[in-house]
Amino acid sequence: YAGSTGAAGSTGATTGATGAGGATLEARRISAWFGDHKVLDRVSLTMPTGLVTALIGPSGCGKSTFLRILNRMHELIPSASLAGEVLVDGQDVYATGQRLTEARRQVGMVFQKPNPFPAMSIYDNVTAGLKLTGVRTGGRAKDDLVEECLTKAGLWKEVRTRLRQPGGALSGGQQQRLCIARSLAIRPKVLLMDEPCSALDPTSTRRIEETIRELVHEVTIVIVTHNMQQAARVSDQCAFFLAEQGTPGAIVEHGPTAAMFSAPSDPRTSDYVEGRF
Ligand code: ADP
Ligand code: MG
Repeated sequence: YAGSTGAAGSTGATTGATGAGGATLEARRISAWFGDHKVLDRVSLTMPTGLVTALIGPSGCGKSTFLRILNRMHELIPSASLAGEVLVDGQDVYATGQRLTEARRQVGMVFQKPNPFPAMSIYDNVTAGLKLTGVRTGGRAKDDLVEECLTKAGLWKEVRTRLRQPGGALSGGQQQRLCIARSLAIRPKVLLMDEPCSALDPTSTRRIEETIRELVHEVTIVIVTHNMQQAARVSDQCAFFLAEQGTPGAIVEHGPTAAMFSAPSDPRTSDYVEGRF
């Protein structure tokens, strides 16, 4: 695990070209409001299959709102509205007739604070989403799925002998891996991660970063992070969001991560990535 952006970038690109399991996610001219308050202004971004896309930028610039729009969680907030399109492999997830559960099945989400069902067993946590999405699996197939997802999340070896213990008994880093396994169980094409390591120690953070680099071969990943080193280590491309002085959030600059960090084209990007605001 080199942690080098260049290496990560080329690996991702190769995987994309050979047809990874993930889908290309495309946001077109997304604007968002809470009541009359406009918080995103015409944000367009393509997040290709086989790549990790990092969303960076100061607090309050609309990164979490943008993620919620990508998997139709935004519409659960009563005051929220939006304009624009979200396409998963060319299919509009907001098209009339497109089922909400289908949109959520294709695009999974992992949050900042690990949120397994604490009293539910590790095993049942992994399979918790299957019922919600209408996927039916039983017996041996279910056991295999649990093993597969825990393995992909890098947790199998640690929990294989105690699958019946409660999810809440795991450490914070393990709980976050359990949440990743739970997301993978519904076989999403895209995995959205909103500051997934902000609540974790450096070792757990590093392990999740390694997991992300492995997962991107089969699921497109979009990660929000405030940690610039993390963005440099895990992402292939980066988008810098900014909401300047009362204006809604927008993308100032986006492109390959290595270029964004070594030679940003906008002075506001260099100020941000070098920690000047
Ligand atoms: P970020 O994730 O970049 O910190 P958010 O997407 O959380 O930014 O927030 C963007 C803007 O939307 C902020 O001004 C925030 O106050 C506002 N906002 C976020 N969630 C809600 C909500 N549920 N109701 C009203 N305003 C919200
Ligand atoms: Mg946020």
